[in-house]
Amino acid sequence: MIEAAVPTTMQKAVQMADDDAMIRRIKKHRYGACPQGTPGKKHAVSVTGSGIKCECPHGQKGRAACRHAKAVELVILRG
Ligand SMILES: [Zn+2]
Repeated sequence: MIEAAVPTTMQKAVQMADDDAMIRRIKKHRYGACPQGTPGKKHAVSVTGSGIKCECPHGQKGRAACRHAKAVELVILRG
């Protein structure tokens, strides 16, 4: 597969947001995001006053939002 065909974080987030099985609402400000390819495993995503935080390794780095946080944001924006 050529590198240009690798989906971007945003494309992955859109795919996740479109799939009800990938993003599950647990509580009012808490969601569970299933990492692709590892069913049964879930990352907790928290909606806070300062943004959406995911506990996956990428999200813990505190840099750009990971695909889980972005997917949850899309789900919230869509209502
Ligand atoms: Zn994440």
